[in-house]
Amino acid sequence: NFTTRASAQPLKNADELIDSVETFIFDCDGVIWKGDSLIDGVPETLDMLRSKGKRLVFVTNNSTKSRKQYGKKFETLGLSVSEEEIFASSFAAAAYLKSIDFPKDKKVYVIGEEGILKELELAGFQYLGGPEDGGKKIELKPGFLMEHDESVGAVVVGFDRNFNYYKIQYGTLCIRENPGCLFIATNRDAVTHLTDAQEWAGGGSMVGALSGSTQREPLVVGKPSTFMMDYLANEFNILKSQICMVGDRLDTDILFGQNGGCKTLLVLSGVTSLPMLQCPNNSIQPEFYTNKISDFLSLKAA
Ligand code: PLP
Ligand code: CA
Repeated sequence: NFTTRASAQPLKNADELIDSVETFIFDCDGVIWKGDSLIDGVPETLDMLRSKGKRLVFVTNNSTKSRKQYGKKFETLGLSVSEEEIFASSFAAAAYLKSIDFPKDKKVYVIGEEGILKELELAGFQYLGGPEDGGKKIELKPGFLMEHDESVGAVVVGFDRNFNYYKIQYGTLCIRENPGCLFIATNRDAVTHLTDAQEWAGGGSMVGALSGSTQREPLVVGKPSTFMMDYLANEFNILKSQICMVGDRLDTDILFGQNGGCKTLLVLSGVTSLPMLQCPNNSIQPEFYTNKISDFLSLKAA
């Protein structure tokens, strides 16, 4: 099932695109902000879209914060965005477990940071693990056997700056030995941009470790999988053909939009450059590309 897509076109008439959809889904890092700095012209652009009655939704694969923590980040940057408009992959993990009626008497083992823990707690799930887990707990004396909790029914793996061998082994035991244990990944981003000096190993590196040890593929709840798209389309009762997905990354954002049957716009304010988009090895072509979202304010029909 191979479809060839036409090459991305430079966005020329923003009003035409804006008028053609009801909802904009914005990726966060590289579109709204870069690290902790707001990208130029974002507040004015969001205000303009809201004044036209557009629904705005914000989606991020970064699982380290909860919805509430992202709400604070938007506020700190001077943007008025409500928690209900934010879909982080941490929230998606909890929402997924809810959607399948994951039993409340089972536990979730978390490899990841605070965002996932907070979302699981809010959703009423029991969990163990998290950032501080393991550390120096392994002493490989002869006969040493690691115990694990048999009531763990799901292992959720996200970006974790305190990843360690204990966590790999604990998660592996749960997945391999607890019957029916789920293996859920918040995202599989190969790299992330913790600083702008270099690319850093992303959430996909932690997921890859568990996938390597268990020989299982995780269920991914973040971009580009369709879970969040289906979830928010259902939540807001919106048609996916009435959505434009705006992102800076081809293999997560643009694919996410295309998998959902949405319109797609790549912005060059993040990790993808024009030569990367136009490289013959790149098969992921959005409908349009432009420098940054504030181009919406200036790109008018001639
Ligand atoms: N995961 C981590 C740990 C990150 O730091 C980032 C970006 O900062 C991402 C994922 C990607 O985030 P987004 O989907 O908002 O681009
Ligand atoms: Ca991004």
